[in-house]
Amino acid sequence: MRAYTAKEKAKDYHLRTTYGITLEDYEKMLEKQDFKCALCSKPASECARSLHVDHWHKKAKGAKFGKVRGLVCFYCNRERIRQHTLRSSFLLYQYMLRFAEENLNEPAIPESQTDSTD
Ligand SMILES: [Zn+2]
Repeated sequence: MRAYTAKEKAKDYHLRTTYGITLEDYEKMLEKQDFKCALCSKPASECARSLHVDHWHKKAKGAKFGKVRGLVCFYCNRERIRQHTLRSSFLLYQYMLRFAEENLNEPAIPESQTDSTD
């Protein structure tokens, strides 16, 4: 692992304590996503802020953090999810389907978002 700057150390701490991932995990995800928003494919370099960590808000039983789905731009994280346009619906379905396919047998994913047992 390379030496982190103070800013990177702070980001690593934030990622660990909020999402249960390290800065190294974040950077690997970013590379896997070809340095683009996982939802709309906007290049991270064109975003004013670094890509946001999109995750399940519901945790699986015994899990400390909700499963991370991907890194998305500010617009997708804040606005796109509220839109009901064909383009936004199409992008969201595509994104969720890709995530489901990659994690179908992953135990850390809650079976139901409506389950309120924990
Ligand atoms: Zn986006």
